[in-house]
Order: sequence, then C-alpha cells, then structure tokens
Amino acid sequence: MRNLSLTALGLLASALSFAGNGSSGGGHIHGDQLNPWFLSNTTEVTYCLEISKDFSRIPEPKLRALVAEAFDYWKEEFAQYPTDRSSEVEEAGFEVKLATQNFKLSEACTPSVDIRFQLGSLSPEQLLKIPNYKQTIGLASRTSYDTKSLRGSGFIYVAPEAGQLRPSSVNMHPKPWSSGTHQALRYTLIHEIGHVFGLQDDHYSSYDLDIMSAKFVEAITSTRNVNYLSRKSQPRIPSVFGCNTSWTGDSGVVEYDVIGGEGPNELDRFLGLLEKKKLRFVSQNKKLEVLDVTTGTVNATVDLGASNADFDQSTDAIALYLTSEQTVFARFPRRLLTVSNAIFFRSNSVIKKGLTLKVHNGNTLPVFVSFDQACAPTVGGVFKGEVFFDLYSGY
Ligand SMILES: [Zn+2]
Repeated sequence: MRNLSLTALGLLASALSFAGNGSSGGGHIHGDQLNPWFLSNTTEVTYCLEISKDFSRIPEPKLRALVAEAFDYWKEEFAQYPTDRSSEVEEAGFEVKLATQNFKLSEACTPSVDIRFQLGSLSPEQLLKIPNYKQTIGLASRTSYDTKSLRGSGFIYVAPEAGQLRPSSVNMHPKPWSSGTHQALRYTLIHEIGHVFGLQDDHYSSYDLDIMSAKFVEAITSTRNVNYLSRKSQPRIPSVFGCNTSWTGDSGVVEYDVIGGEGPNELDRFLGLLEKKKLRFVSQNKKLEVLDVTTGTVNATVDLGASNADFDQSTDAIALYLTSEQTVFARFPRRLLTVSNAIFFRSNSVIKKGLTLKVHNGNTLPVFVSFDQACAPTVGGVFKGEVFFDLYSGY
C-alpha cells in the first residue's frame, strides 16, 4: 500500500479512521436527561459570568467576548446543518431547530438566569457533588428541566489556572487560558456549550480534536497544544456533524510517496506520479482537484456532481425524549413519546461511487471518493483488476 505521511496538518496528525461507533454502555435510564436545554419555543436565553480571581489573567471584557463567540460558533454550526438529513420527528412533520435563541448576557447571576458560567469557582454544595474536581477542566450541568416547555437551566464550570481548583493533570499547560489568543479557552467553552445543545461526549472518537470528543478539553489544554495554538491562529477542527457532500475546502498539504520509494511502477505512471510529490486536495463546486504543490498544476480531477450514489454512514448526535406532558409540539405522535428520537446526526463517512478520475496526462479511471468526518478525501478505484482503496489520499 501507499506510504503517506502527514506534514502540514499539525494538530490533525493523529490518526483518523472510519471507526467511531458511538454506542454507550447502556443500563442507565436517561429519559430526558440528554435533551437539549432549549428548543426553538425558547426565544431568549440569559447567561451570566461568575469569575474567580484564580481563573486567568484575561480581562473580563475579553472573557465576555469569548463566551459570546462560543455561542456564535454553535449558531453557525446549526445553521449549516445539511437540510437533506431528516429525522423521524421531522418526517412526522415537526421541525426541530437548535441554537436559534438570542443569548443575552445578564449583568448579575440571579437565580432566574438560564446559564451561569462559573469561571474558576464552585459552590460548597457543588464541591460535594463533584468530588473529583481536581480532574475536572470543564463541566456543563443541567440542574433543572421543565418537561412541559422543554426548557432547562444550569451551569457551566471551567476550572481555574491557579489555586485550589486547578486540575492536577501534569499535561495541562501552566496557563492554558491566559496564553496566546486564548484559543484553548475558546474551544473549551465551545465544547461545554455543545452539551447545552444536547451533544454528548464521544468516548469512542478516534480523533482527540473532535470538538465533542470526551478527550477534547484535556487535549486542547495540554502544554503541547496550547503552545501550538499560540503559534498558529486556528486549528482545523472538523464540524461536529461530520462532512457533507457539498463541502468546500482544502485538505492542506499531504506528502505523497511513490510505492516503497523504489521508483515508478505501472500505476504511478498511469497516475502521472513518478516522483515524491506534495499534493493538496481541494473540493469546491462538487469537484475534487488533486493539486501538485511543487508545480502548481492540477494532477487529477474528479467531478463529484456526476454521482447520485452517496452512501452516508452516520450516527446519532442529538436526541430528544418527550413525554405526554410536553406542550411544545401539537398532536405529537404517541409512538414517538417516551422513546429517544435522534434529531441530529453526524456523518462519519460519505462515499460517492460511479465517478471518473481524469488525470492530467489524459488517462481516466472509474473511481469512488470517500470523505471522512473531517472531510479528508480518499480516491479509490480498480486498476488492472486490483482494488486500490487509496489511489490518492487526503490524510
Ligand atoms: Zn464534555
């Protein structure tokens, strides 16, 4: 098989795979515990910030801006959710939209505030409930839920950099929040707010920088990654909903070695890859181009629009559990009550078959293209009766 090495992907360099089966241990009665805290019948959500002196050196206006940005991140993610993926609830005629609210900062943390951000502080009662606080970097906890209006409230805790509550992990950067442009805090807030929208920790993610990976917050606050984030402005963090077929983007540079490094063989000659190459995979307007970084030319093209055979392998991302008490949806079907209904999905891989690879040397080959959850493309095909799953691979 071809030997591919990652170069410029930086944080993406951990292995991406097609695994990621999100089934959980079972045995628990979740009921509505995993529901989003708010549905679109709630139009305004208030939040407040409680900031301890140990939390960070970040001035309060900047902290406020980071929280607002984290809400905006999700508003955009949910707005971009592909409309062609519908749930059983939607098929029954009910529209479920998330992150539609106006999130409004409240100056005081009064009991009526919906989400309390506790930056570096826990109350004595909370400390009793969170005995492992030294292992906790972030936490989102829904403390009340109204089964009629389907509206909850709770708090988001983010551990301080210093003091009693600083987590004891040796991998954690000494100043994960205050360093650089505060990207580690930005992403930690995004992860925790993700729980507010009903996204769960993915314990099976093969990729630590998956935003809802159970290991995400630990990974993003590690000394190695905080230092990396201080040098680079933005990490490439894939959408929590995976890749969709109209994705537009650039895989970054992938170093591509000819088989075994032993010189050209027949397939490499066919693909016009006669020496070590640096390639980039660019997908736009339903076309995938393989660019030769060294010469600046297009090595090969695949027209993605030609395929109508998408195979989308997806898992549940957000679920909704309703009882007959709910008053939000009129005439909601009884068969969908007191069961967990998936309302948003995550695509783990998308495969398009029946495509044609056009190589710059004039050769063509029938191929299939698959995109993994981070939209890294792989082109596979049959050459001289032999199946090659990675003629070209974007990761
Ligand atoms: Zn989490």
